[in-house]
Amino acid sequence: MSDSKIGRRDAARRALTVLGAVMVAPSALVGCGGEEGGGALTCTDTTGLAAAAVATRESQNYTDSSPNAEQKCSGCRFFTAGQAGHCGTCQVVQGPIHPDGNCSLWAAQS
Ligand code: SF4
Repeated sequence: MSDSKIGRRDAARRALTVLGAVMVAPSALVGCGGEEGGGALTCTDTTGLAAAAVATRESQNYTDSSPNAEQKCSGCRFFTAGQAGHCGTCQVVQGPIHPDGNCSLWAAQS
């Protein structure tokens, strides 16, 4: 078994653990900063999210700007892109998700 398979399994296992703790809601787009008004896209507004969902974002170190160019949310198996210029969503981390973001649960698309 290759290391990458172990890594993906581990990431998927951790993601499922998070899913068990926090139910993913369709209202995950709450708080997307968008790019209206000409500003840069921001996906950090957690207004309306349950405390547990905010805690998950924090415990998994979600950030709008990935420290690793090879591990952006846009390349993660859990990411769903939003409309152009808007935040996307994630299957395991609630709230607005930046395509250039990252968290500890990142897993490559298969
Ligand atoms: S890296 Fe981004 S898309 Fe992947 S699990 Fe984390 S927040 Fe979700």
